[in-house]
Amino acid sequence: MTLKTTELPRLNLTNPDPKALAAEILQALKYRVGKDATVATREDWLTAAIKVVRDRIVDRWHESTKEAYEAGAKRVYYLSLEFLIGRLMRDAFSNLGVMDAMREALATLGVDLDVIAALEPDAALGNGGLGRLAACFMESMATVGVPAHGYGIRYANGMFRQEIHDGWQVELPETWLDHGNPWEFERRERSFEVGFGGTVESVTSKDGRLERHVWKPHDRLLAVAYDTPVVGWRGNRVNTLRLWSGMPIDPILLDAFNAGDHIGALRESNKADALSRVLYPADSSEAGQELRLRQEYFFSTASLQDIIQRHLSQYGDLLTLPDKAAIHLNDTHPAIAVTELMRLLMDVHLLDFDTAWDISKRTFAYTNHTLLPEALESWAVPLFERLLPRHMQIIYAINAEILLEARASDQFNGEEISRISLIQENGERRVRMGNLAFAGSHSINGVSALHTELMKETVFADLHRLYPDRINNKTNGITPRRWLFQSNPGLTTLIREAIGERFLDDIDALTELDRFAEDASFREQFASVKRANKERLAALIMERQGIRIDPSALFDIQIKRIHEYKRQLLNIIEAVALYDQIRSHPERDWMPRVKFFGGKAAPSYHNAKLIIKLANDVARVINRDPAVRGLLKVVFVPNYNVSTAEIMVPAADLSEQISTAGMEASGTGNMKFALNGALTIGTLDGANVEIKECVGDENIFIFGLTADEVAERRSNGYTPRSAIEGSPELSQALAAISSGVFSPDDRNRYRDLMDGLYQHDWFMVAADFDAYADAQRQVDAVWRDSPDWYARAIRNVARTGWFSSDRTIRQYANEIWNVPA
Ligand SMILES: *Cc1c(COP(=O)(O)O)cnc(C)c1O
Repeated sequence: MTLKTTELPRLNLTNPDPKALAAEILQALKYRVGKDATVATREDWLTAAIKVVRDRIVDRWHESTKEAYEAGAKRVYYLSLEFLIGRLMRDAFSNLGVMDAMREALATLGVDLDVIAALEPDAALGNGGLGRLAACFMESMATVGVPAHGYGIRYANGMFRQEIHDGWQVELPETWLDHGNPWEFERRERSFEVGFGGTVESVTSKDGRLERHVWKPHDRLLAVAYDTPVVGWRGNRVNTLRLWSGMPIDPILLDAFNAGDHIGALRESNKADALSRVLYPADSSEAGQELRLRQEYFFSTASLQDIIQRHLSQYGDLLTLPDKAAIHLNDTHPAIAVTELMRLLMDVHLLDFDTAWDISKRTFAYTNHTLLPEALESWAVPLFERLLPRHMQIIYAINAEILLEARASDQFNGEEISRISLIQENGERRVRMGNLAFAGSHSINGVSALHTELMKETVFADLHRLYPDRINNKTNGITPRRWLFQSNPGLTTLIREAIGERFLDDIDALTELDRFAEDASFREQFASVKRANKERLAALIMERQGIRIDPSALFDIQIKRIHEYKRQLLNIIEAVALYDQIRSHPERDWMPRVKFFGGKAAPSYHNAKLIIKLANDVARVINRDPAVRGLLKVVFVPNYNVSTAEIMVPAADLSEQISTAGMEASGTGNMKFALNGALTIGTLDGANVEIKECVGDENIFIFGLTADEVAERRSNGYTPRSAIEGSPELSQALAAISSGVFSPDDRNRYRDLMDGLYQHDWFMVAADFDAYADAQRQVDAVWRDSPDWYARAIRNVARTGWFSSDRTIRQYANEIWNVPA
């Protein structure tokens, strides 16, 4: 066979012939990987299989692009410093409807699809929820037919890989590009110059009038585009994820090279490389590093230059930009784009300030993701001025404009005005990126109903009063393709058998499953699917960690970033208290339970890392104690990421969503679990509130202080010591941890952590402990009555289709972007 790939017959997308596919895979292996079947490694087969499917995607991609172009459709540009994608192969195969055919084709070649699928590295270009949301949104935009581009950074090293050594987190670099990335297309021709530092010159006309400013950067480099196609469900649309990589303008400095300084000659190359080298591994906490600001500007300017070039080549005029482009800022990381668009419009395209400002506000929209004060981005004015001198001027100009509006409105006192300012004046002067994003956008959205209300009352109270029609809510969502169809094929098949196929295309149809909660035989089938998912997880834990787990135990799972506000500590302390109870009351009828933890801590976050160690220390003691008789096990699963989540979520009976009320903006882990039939134990925080409304009070375990009560306790002088002393169970658990029962090798290891609970307990662990422990005993009671448990679990599945990111994206499309969906 010497057929060139281009001469192969084009196959029917939805019903490809496995034989023809097998031939194509062999062709790809030979001509694109350069290998013969006899010597091909499993990675080679993976690459060949992906290339074959990618070709089909490219066809749809070009059609999608052409359609949008010819229709003059408004495009959405989603700017995000993080895209936590995970693996793409299953997503693409399944969305294109070629999964079964590819499986069969590979089998005829002696290759197991599941085996090669497991070799694909996770694209972990994000920390947690925010990055995963961006990935779900990309898939949903392609699914509901919104022409969109995602823009971000192609980090060579994404999120670190976590290993646990002697119970401690160890961070290792993740090298996901080692075997190349078969999904992406490098677009050298699509590169843009990025500058830093230097000076600003003013150009004046002959009569001395200021005409414009010209920024003369000191450092310059290139941003080069790498494109990954994103396939919607049923191949509906294919959108582009465009990630920028840094490249030097002069890769080798000839002067230095000729002078024999071969290392120095690479200086520019190294600088450019640094920009897209690492993802900052801090989730919801300040980074504040100069390189981070450089990264933010780097991807913002490249994306805007790209958007402007595309717009001008089609429409020839930037006044129509807001009608043809919606630029979305995922958190404040790309907020610098507001000033960059202003600069490009004024300094390069010679529009006046008012026109540019009007265009910007009508083009940008911003999503706020956190109310945590330490996570609200701000930059020291001297640093900002040094790196981006022209942008600093523009910020002052914008500030003058909004402060004028505020004063003119006559409703603010001096202190309120200072809170509206883009510059924080008390202490070190800093640029407030949240205020900048707010001022420069026509829409500011929160990510759950509660979060949006709190946003109006706290961080943006004054700006909201000034611009009352900007804040709106868009409760987060998750894509059911990845988080149900692909990760839980057993449940998906069961649902199809019960209610038919419609829910595959219209997730609202899941509600038809509700009545099956009453059906005893369906409940049994549901339980056996859950059981199989638990066995799969147990096998993985056995293989990776050598820990034996009983799949008939209740699987109680808390997986998410390790952060004090998420309160893994509350869960661990409850495990210690339960351990104590099991030992003191062996006569009681305890229900076997396995508590799973998983999550990464920011490398510089001391307490979070200590909490990981505590989980591991507690696990070691409990799991070895014969007095526990296997009734309680604790497992810390290392290196939590998207692929691990896809195995753990379908195996959960109980979902732990126990953040201090008022602190979790939304959560999306909570949605994944509920959709897969886990019951939630949680506080009235973030989207838990809406999950409760959807599933009904009887089908969720809510406990603890509300956001209002937390605020009230705080302002009335909360004294954790009295809460602790009022709870014998809690006091004993804290005393055991503090005295070194779980750390005999270092008895003082947890003393400070425990003292912190007595002294300030910022996250109200003590205040919520008894309510949490009571809720856990209610969980046991319902679990004991197993038909009732599964009825509730089925209702969770049936009632959480609303949390599909398709719904979220349609709301963004209709209410923010003004594009059809
Ligand atoms: C969904 C997801 C998250 C977000 O989890 P939360 O519980 O909402 O914090 C974080 N990391 C990964 C890998 C995820 O899949």
